[in-house]
Parts: sequence; C-alpha cells; structure tokens
Amino acid sequence: MSVPAQSLHEKLNQLRQRFITQLPIRLEQTAEQWQASRASGEAEARLAPDLHRFFHSLKGTGRSLGFERLALLAEQAEDALTDACPRADLDDFMVALLRQLNDELAYLQTDQGQQKSLAALNSVEFTQHPEQVRSRRQRLIYLCDDEPEHVSPLMHHLRCFGHDVVHFADTDTFFNAVLTRRPDAVIMDVQFPHGQTAGTETLTSLNRLTGQELPSIVLSGHGDFHSRLSAVRAGCNGYFTKPVKPLDLMLAIDELTAPVDDEPLRVLIVDDEYEVAEYHALMLEEAGMIVHQVHHPNDALSALERFSPDLLLVDVYMPVCSGTELANIIRQQPEHVGLPIIYLSSETDSQKQISAMAAGVEAFITKPVVPDELVSAVRLRAERLRLLRSLMTRDSMTGLYNHSTTTDLINKALAQAHRSDGRHAMAMIDIDHFKTVNDTYGHLAGDQVIITLSRLLKTRLRLSDTIGRYGGEEFVVLLRDVSAEQAAKLIDGLRQDFELVDFHAGDLSFRCTFSAGISDFPNYPTTQSLRLAADQALYRAKHQGRNRVVSSTEADNDGE
Ligand code: GH3
Ligand code: MG
Ligand code: MG
Repeated sequence: MSVPAQSLHEKLNQLRQRFITQLPIRLEQTAEQWQASRASGEAEARLAPDLHRFFHSLKGTGRSLGFERLALLAEQAEDALTDACPRADLDDFMVALLRQLNDELAYLQTDQGQQKSLAALNSVEFTQHPEQVRSRRQRLIYLCDDEPEHVSPLMHHLRCFGHDVVHFADTDTFFNAVLTRRPDAVIMDVQFPHGQTAGTETLTSLNRLTGQELPSIVLSGHGDFHSRLSAVRAGCNGYFTKPVKPLDLMLAIDELTAPVDDEPLRVLIVDDEYEVAEYHALMLEEAGMIVHQVHHPNDALSALERFSPDLLLVDVYMPVCSGTELANIIRQQPEHVGLPIIYLSSETDSQKQISAMAAGVEAFITKPVVPDELVSAVRLRAERLRLLRSLMTRDSMTGLYNHSTTTDLINKALAQAHRSDGRHAMAMIDIDHFKTVNDTYGHLAGDQVIITLSRLLKTRLRLSDTIGRYGGEEFVVLLRDVSAEQAAKLIDGLRQDFELVDFHAGDLSFRCTFSAGISDFPNYPTTQSLRLAADQALYRAKHQGRNRVVSSTEADNDGE
C-alpha cells in the first residue's frame, strides 16, 4: 500500500504535537532541578547550565513552532536567571513562572488552544519551489511539422538525448494536445497546407488562451525579415531555417528549457533540539534540498564525511560543545575549510554574533527564521561553493568529472559496495578514429563530438551513475547496481544511437562511433583492477573492428 505524501502543514503539525506531548516531562524535570539546585544555594542554581539551556531553547523552539506565549514565558525565565543583579524574589518568581508555563501547556492541549496557535503558525508563508524539486533531465517536447522527411531525423536526435518527443502532423491536434498536457517546449513548423491554421498563429492563440508563453522554436523555409518578425510577434524564442542541423536545434532546446541543476543541494543540520532541526529541515526540503540532521555535535564530523553536504546549518547553543567550537573544529580540517556554515540561534546579542563570525561562520540567522530567508541564505552560499568546487572537480569543456575526481568517487562507491554486498559495472568508452576526425574536419568539430557524447552519457545514464572524462576522448562510467551483462546492453544502446548522430563542419557532415569495454565488481574488487579489465576489454573491442561493446568476461574467453 502506498502512503500518500504528507503536506508541509501536516508535517509541521505532527512536529508541534510531538513537542507539546514531551514538554510536560521536561517542565517537571526542570522544576525538580530548580528545587534541587536551590537547596545548594541560589547563586549556583542561577548558573546551572541545564536550566539556561532549557529556557533558551524553549524560547527558540516555541517561537519557531508558533507557541508565542510559551516562548515569552521562557524568555522571562532566561532573563531572570541571567540578570546581573538578581531579583530578591527569584525563587517565587521562578516557581510562579513554571506554574504559568504549565497552565499555558494545559491550555495548548485544549481544542481552543490548538486552534489559536495553529492559526499563528499557518500565517507563516512557505513559497513553493516546484522547479527545484524536479530533478529529471528529460523534457517533454512537442514537434509540429507536416513534412515527414524533416521529422524523422529530428525525432531521432531529440530522443537520442533523452527527451520525450511527441510528433503532430497538423496544428489542430497539436492545439488540443497542449491544452491537455503542456510540454516543456515546442518546435513548430511555420508552413502548413491550406485549410490549416499557420504555426505562428496557433502559438499566438495558445499563448493568449492560457495566459502563459509556451517556450517555442520555429522552423521555417524562409529567413526573410517578415517571416522572422511574425515569429517574434508570436512570442517564439528561436528561429531556424530549414534544413535544420539537429544538434544545433537540440542545444537551443536545452537553453530554452533552462538548465536545472541536476543535483539537489545537500544541507547538514546540527541542532540538539529535535523539533527545531526537523522544522528547519522541512523548510529546506520543501525547497527541493536534501537534508540530514544530527542532534549531537559529537556526530557532526562523521556525518560530514558520510553525507558530504554543500552547507552546514549549526545551532549555537548545544550541550557539550557550542556551535562556535564546532565551527572551529570543522575549520581546522583542511578538507572542510571551504564548507559554508550558517549559524542558527535565538541569540540577538550582536557581540556574540561578531565572535561567531570570527570563527569563519558565513552568516547568522536569528530564530524564529523566516522560511524564505533561510532558503535563500542557504541556497546562495551553497551554490557559490558548488561553483568553486565544480571548477576543481569537473572538466570545463564537458562538465563531466575530471580524472582524479572520477577515481575518488569510484573508490568511495566501491568501499560502500564492499560493505553492502553491492555490485557495479564499469565502462571505458573511447571514440573511434578520433585523430582522423580532427585531421579531416578540424579540432572544433572534434570538440563538438566530445561534447555531444558527454551530453548523451549525461542525459541517458542515471543520476546515481558516475561519469568522468578520463582523458582526451576517453570516458569512464560507473554504473550502479547492474551486472556486466546489463551494463553492456545499456552501453550498446547508446552506441547504436550515437552512430546515427549527424555532425557538421562547414558544409560537410559526418558521423562518429565509439568502442567500449565493460568490467564488473565484485569480479574485479578494486578501482585499479576494474579499470585494467575494462581497458583490456576496450582494447579488444578496438582490435575486433571498433564500434562495439566488449565485456571483460568475453574478452578473457576470446582465445586470441
Ligand atoms: P582509436 O580508434 O584507436 O581510439 O583511434 P583514435 O584516433 O581515436 O586514437 P588516438 O589515441 O590515436 O587519438 C586520439 C586523438 O584525440 C588525439 C588527440 O589529438 C585527440 N584529442 C584529445 N583531446 C581532444 C580534445 O579535447 N579535443 C579534440 N578535438 N581532440 C582531442
Ligand atoms: Mg540548541
Ligand atoms: Mg579513440
């Protein structure tokens, strides 16, 4: 049975319930603690760190979860405890305050109390970020063109790069289809036989009817000013004259459908208060990020290692070690020097904020946080780090992982697979006779082939697979959770599509092929041995005539 996805407010509500349910015990413990420490002298009682922390975090959590009165009472208690000249009636004051807290809690457990505090919480606005949630690279493209000889090469190329393409031969069917299911982009022919609405007119009425501009590219037999003008007036984003070079069209579609960052941002939250951590996690998850929580500073370092976040969100007040101390510990490790850290605290004292900044903390956010502010503060800093990191880990021409990063990632994946009895396959891919391509069509055309093959690998393989550019025209892929046989089949499918891609250099057009060698884990248990086996299989594929995929097992039995 599938569990329906919970709405954000349902999740928040559960969080509030949980908080309210466990609060009576904590209040009782606090009352006992006050009595006990008071017995050993009021001055000491005032300094008991557990008491401070309790009221301090009750203030922060209470505000975050919409329990304004609880937060206010907690704040008074905290102030009374930290006051430089303590009030004479401190004991009476504390006892009365604890009673008031209990009363408020009892009220919150009534229906009326629930309604009221819920109304406060619901006034917090959450902006939906649907485009961030989507992580698929596939796009739905509608191609509306009545000339079959144009259609089939375009369809081939678009599908080859992982797009979902639907073809319409007339504008009426197309019109209805857009109203039923809106595509990510449209490729529209301009001229249609008499009796049909023209392409640009169809787009104009659709845009008017839906009140939204459909990302669109126009294909036309004419490149004259008036044809172009009418396309611009119809809101078209691109204009191609026939015959169209499919690869160019594909790049235009890419640009039009906006490059969504494929991998969601990863945020590690360190906060000793479960509810607060959960509350902030909900906000960030709602914005499409992946969040991991740690409720004890001790666990932060190992979580950093395992989860490799793009950003750390740290609570300032925690038992054992403060947020500042934790930031210092993390900063003292070279591999984490660049990691952005954001502090979260109910602390409004600017002096403390300044000293936190000195520990290399990037920003200070005061609880209760405004959801959109938290999301944008996190996104801004995490994305900046991503960019810096990608300059070091990725190949600038293709955006694929470079040699050393690929090796690191494969090492990690294998270490993990050893623990979990997983199985993976490796493919070494090398473009055939690439030197001849460069010599015949020029280096730029050669670059285009490399970029195209990279794109093909990126769009067709899964997000979990590791794809690296190993050398000039050589690629390595780690395919997760598949056998050598499945991997060979998959790569062979890519090979067949790739050999039909048309490349252009000036007026010349040409095609390219690649060869691949496959090896698998745990048959080959280390990165080194996997690579060697895949390399040997690749060598065999070249030797057998190129444009083929060979598995290390076949290669071993080849008998040559
Ligand atoms: P084989 O089928 O045996 O793989 O033959 P090949 O010609 O592809 O192999 P070879 O290793 O002899 O040549 C690879 C060529 O790739 C040589 C090098 O100039 C070219 N190359 C390497 N990196 C790049 C690049 O970034 N852009 C371009 N255009 N060419 C590159
Ligand atoms: Mg805390
Ligand atoms: Mg080659």
